[in-house]
Amino acid sequence: MAKTLLDKIWDAHVVKSIPGGLDVFYIDRHLIHEVTSPQAFDEIEARGLPLFRKEQIVATADHNVPTKNQHLPIEEPLSRFQVDKLTENCAKHNIELYGLGHERQGIVHVMGPELGITQPGMTIVCGDSHTSTHGAFGAIAFGIGTSQVAQVMASQCLLLSKPKSMRITVDGEVRPGVTAKDIILYVISKLGTGGATGYFVEYAGSAFRNLSMEGRMTVCNMSIEMGARGGMIAPDQTTFDYLQGREFAPKGERWEQAVAYWSTLFTEEGAQFDKELSFDAADIAPMITFGTNPGMGMAIDALIPTDVPVSEQASYSKSLQYMGFQPGESLLGKEIQYVFIGSCTNSRIEDLRQVARFVQGKKKAAHVEAIIVPGSKQVEKQAIEEGIDKVLAEAGFELREPGCSACLAMNEDKIPAGAYCVSTSNRNFEGRQGPGSRTLLASPLVAAITAVEGKIVDITQYLN
Ligand code: SF4
Repeated sequence: MAKTLLDKIWDAHVVKSIPGGLDVFYIDRHLIHEVTSPQAFDEIEARGLPLFRKEQIVATADHNVPTKNQHLPIEEPLSRFQVDKLTENCAKHNIELYGLGHERQGIVHVMGPELGITQPGMTIVCGDSHTSTHGAFGAIAFGIGTSQVAQVMASQCLLLSKPKSMRITVDGEVRPGVTAKDIILYVISKLGTGGATGYFVEYAGSAFRNLSMEGRMTVCNMSIEMGARGGMIAPDQTTFDYLQGREFAPKGERWEQAVAYWSTLFTEEGAQFDKELSFDAADIAPMITFGTNPGMGMAIDALIPTDVPVSEQASYSKSLQYMGFQPGESLLGKEIQYVFIGSCTNSRIEDLRQVARFVQGKKKAAHVEAIIVPGSKQVEKQAIEEGIDKVLAEAGFELREPGCSACLAMNEDKIPAGAYCVSTSNRNFEGRQGPGSRTLLASPLVAAITAVEGKIVDITQYLN
C-alpha cells in the first residue's frame, strides 16, 4: 500500500505495537530547556532511574534568559533559578548544555536545525509545543509534557497512538510581499485554532516547495496553532543544501548514505490521508491578526469580520474588546507602540536580512520601540559579520542578545499593559507578551514597515 511521509517515518520508529492501538515509539533526539526539564529530572531522580541514552539529549537555555547583558548574573530571581537548575541538572547527568554565553546557545527550535542536529527522517521531541518547527526537515517532531520528558529520559521511547494524517496543499505563485508567515497565518485563519486537532499535517504544493528552509520552519512552527500534533515537509534538495556542512550533519560517506535514505522520504502517489485541503497561493495577501488567537487573522487591508457564528459571538466580542477593536473596522492607520521581531517563528538570519534590507536608509517612527532578537548566538554572530547590526542601529532598532524574549514574557522583556505590539511570534493570547499587552501577529516584513511608519499600513503600496 502506498505510504505517506508520516507512515514511513512512523513505521521506522515503532519498537513494538501494543494490542489496543498504542505503539512503543523510539525517539532519536530529545531537546530540553529550563522550563519543562526540572520536574522531569526530579521524577527520574525520585524513582532512581538512570538516563537511558544521554548522548541523544541536547540542552539549551532560552525562555528565561535576559536579552541584555548576558555576561552579567540574571537579575530576575525566578529566571535565574530556572537557568541555574538546568545547568546543575545537566552537569549532574553529564548532558550536553548550550547555556547562557555558549556559542551554540539559542532558542531550542533555532539552535537544533542550524547546528544540523535536526535531520530528515528523525523523531524529535522537546517539552515545548513549537517542536513542530523541526518537521520542516521531514521529521516527526512534536512537543511533549513533563511526564513524557521523564519517560524519554528513562527509556528513549514514548507510548503513543499514531495521529491522523492531513495534507494541506498550497499551489501557485505567491504575490509580492507574501512570506512564509503570511501563508501559515492564512491557512490558520481558514482552519481556525482547532481545525487540525488530532492530525499530523504534511504541507505540500509549490508554495511550500519554493520556500527556503527558514520559511519552511516558520510554517511548521505554527502548525500547532491550528491544533495539529505537528507539521512536516518532505525533504528535498533545499533541505540537503541547508544541512550540508553543518556541525552535526553527517560527513563524507555517511553524508552520501544519509542523502540516499532522505531521498526516499516522500509521500507516494496514491497514499491516503485522513483529510486533504488545498488553497490557491494567489489568494494569500500579507496578513495580520486582529484578535486573541492566531486563527483571528486577515489580509492587512481587510476589515475585521462581522459574520461570526452565533456560538462564537461571545468569545469573539470579548477578544475584540481586549484588543480595543470593533467588528467591521480596518486596522490601517492604527498607531502601534512596539514592534517585536524574534521568537522561534521568525528570528533566523533570513528574517534579520529581510528586515535589514527594508530598513536600510530609513528610521523607525519616534514613538515606536522596535526590538529585534536573534534566535541564537550563531544568528547574532552572522548578523554582526554581515553588518546587519549597524543597519538596524542606524534605523533605530535595538538588536538584543538571543532568547525567547517578548514572545512570552517569561523573562525581563515585556510589552506594557494596553500597548499594541506588532510581533513576529506565534501567539497573540491575552497577556502573552506581558499582562494586558495587545499583540498583532505578522511577518518580519510587515513588522519592519510598521516600525518605520509607526502605524499599520498597506504594505503592498511600499512594494509597488
Ligand atoms: S520563542 Fe516563544 S514559542 Fe518559541 S520556544 Fe520560545 S517561548 Fe516558545
